[in-house]
Amino acid sequence: MFFLGQKQPRIALISEHGDPAIEIGKEEAGGQNVYVRQVGEALACQGWQVDMFTRQSDAEQPAIVQHSRHCRTIRLTAGPKTFIPRDELFPYMPEFVRAFQRFQIENGIQYKVAHTHYWMSSWVGMELRKHQSLKLLHTYHSLGAVKYQSIATIPMIAKTRLATEKVCLETADRIVATSPQERDHMRSLVSHHGNIDVIPCGTDIRRYGSVSQAKARQQLGIGPDEKVVLYVGRFDRRKGIETAVRAVSQSKLRDQIKLIIGGGSRPGQSDGIERDRIEGIVSEVGLQATTQFPGRLGNENLHLYYAAADVCLVPSHYEPFGLVAIEAMASHTPVIASDVGGLQYTVIPEVTGLLAPPKDDAAFAKGIDRILSNPEWRNQLGQAGRKRVEEKFSWDGVASQLGDLYNQVMEEQPVKKRSAAVSA
Ligand code: UDP
Repeated sequence: MFFLGQKQPRIALISEHGDPAIEIGKEEAGGQNVYVRQVGEALACQGWQVDMFTRQSDAEQPAIVQHSRHCRTIRLTAGPKTFIPRDELFPYMPEFVRAFQRFQIENGIQYKVAHTHYWMSSWVGMELRKHQSLKLLHTYHSLGAVKYQSIATIPMIAKTRLATEKVCLETADRIVATSPQERDHMRSLVSHHGNIDVIPCGTDIRRYGSVSQAKARQQLGIGPDEKVVLYVGRFDRRKGIETAVRAVSQSKLRDQIKLIIGGGSRPGQSDGIERDRIEGIVSEVGLQATTQFPGRLGNENLHLYYAAADVCLVPSHYEPFGLVAIEAMASHTPVIASDVGGLQYTVIPEVTGLLAPPKDDAAFAKGIDRILSNPEWRNQLGQAGRKRVEEKFSWDGVASQLGDLYNQVMEEQPVKKRSAAVSA
C-alpha cells in the first residue's frame, strides 16, 4: 500500500518483441503482449511506476505511449523500424541494451528492478546487470527446450536461445513460472539451479463474463439454437487449429455446428500462410458453409464471441500457459484443451472442461459431442470455470502477487553473481 506523497517504486518490464501497446491477434502478437500490458496496468493501479520497454517495429509508431498516469510503453530503437520475426531479432539486442542505457541517462532514471519477458529480454537484463545494480526477474513465456521438441525445423538461433535460458534460470534473482508444469519443465529440461516462483497469468474478470450467451448471440447475429464451437488465437501451426477443424468434421453433430476461427493474419506472412492452410483443410473436409473467419477480435467483440460459444477449443501442441483458456472460462464457456503445459493447470477435466491428447482429432470430436449433447452439464462446466478464474486468475490478484515478489527481491542482499556467458 502506498500513501499520497510517498515515492512510488519504479519498475522496468522488458518485452523486446511483445509490444504491450500493439493490436493483439496479429502475427506474433499474443499472450505475452497481453500479459505485459495487463500486469503493467494493474501494478500501476497498485502504486508502482511502470515503464514497459519494447522494440519499435514500425516507423509510424509513437516512441512513448502513456496508458495511464503511472504506466507507459517505451519503444526503443534497435535495428530497422520494421517487423522482424523473433527468430531473427537477437543480433539487434546489443543495440536494445544501449538504447535502454541511453534512455536511463537522458531521463535521469536508474531502474533497480526489471522483470524481463522471453529469452532475448533476459539476455538484455543480464547485459544491463553487468553495468548497473539491478534485480532481475524473468518470465519465459515459451521455453526453447520444450518448444523445439514439438517443431520439425529447429531455427539457427536455437543454440543461443537454449544457452541463454539456462544462464538466466541459474542467475536471475527470480524466475516467475506461470504454471507448476512450466516450473517442472525448467527443472527437468533446463537446470536444477536457480530460484523459481509460480505466479499464474491472469485475465480481465470484469470484461469476460460481463454479457450473457443470449445477449452476445443477439449482438453477433447468431441464432439461439446454433451450436457454436470457437477457436481464438494466432494462426500458428503450434496452435493446432487443424485439430479443431478435423474434430468438428468428425463430430456426430457436425451438421448443427458453426465453427468460428478468430484471429488476425497478414497475407504473405507466416500467419497468413497458416490461415491459407487452415482454409484449405476447411474446404477439404467440407465445412466451408459452416465455418466463419471473423479476423482479429478486439476490445469491442472478443468478449462477445467467448460468451456466445458453447465450447472453446484450445488444441495447442504445446502451451506454457494459454490465456485463451482462462478468458473462455471467465466467460462461462467450457474449454476442451490439449493435455499439455499450463492447460493442465488451468482446465480441470470433467469440472471446467475436458483435456484431450494434442493432435488427437477423434478425442477432441468426442469431447465436443459430450459437451454439446448435454446443455445442462455444459452450463455446469461453464459456472465452475468462471469460479476457478475468479479465485485464481484475476489480473489484480496476479499483479499483487508479483508486486509482493518484487518487494521481497528488492530487500534481498545481492548475492555474488555468475556472469552471463552468452554473447550476441
Ligand atoms: N487475441 C486477441 N484477438 C485475437 C486473437 C487473440 O485479442 O483475434 C488474444 C487472446 O485473447 C489472448 C492472446 O491473444 O489474450 C493469446 O494468448 P495465448 O496465451 O492464448 O497464446 P499466445 O499467443 O501467447 O501463444
